[in-house]
Amino acid sequence: MSKVLIVTCSKIRDINCVACLKCFKASDLKEGEFARYDEVKITAMCGCGDCPGLIMPKLTLVLEQADYLDRDIDAIHLGTCMVKASKTASCPINLEKAAEMISSKFGKPVVVGTHNY
Ligand code: SF4
Ligand code: SF4
Repeated sequence: MSKVLIVTCSKIRDINCVACLKCFKASDLKEGEFARYDEVKITAMCGCGDCPGLIMPKLTLVLEQADYLDRDIDAIHLGTCMVKASKTASCPINLEKAAEMISSKFGKPVVVGTHNY
């Protein structure tokens, strides 16, 4: 069972993309970027730290809390909301660079994207 943390766009989550139904559906059905797993569970979701892109300090806090609460995180996904913010709005985060930095700092695989709905 792969346990994933999804990082979300704080401007989109639960505003344009409500209740995170799309990511929960995709993980349940192993669609989109969840198709790579034999079994997958969304263990945690968190915002990106909001504009102007405070993703690294936010993830440091989240992963410290996960350790404290004995929650394993096997992989981190940058949500499709972040991909949309990057492609269609003025998101200051370079997702490919952020993925490299996160993977390097926390030693976990990072996937850009989640669902394709
Ligand atoms: S893309 Fe996924 S994580 Fe982001 S707001 Fe939509 S359902 Fe939630
Ligand atoms: S930094 Fe990007 S992903 Fe985060 S809230 Fe702003 S637009 Fe959304």
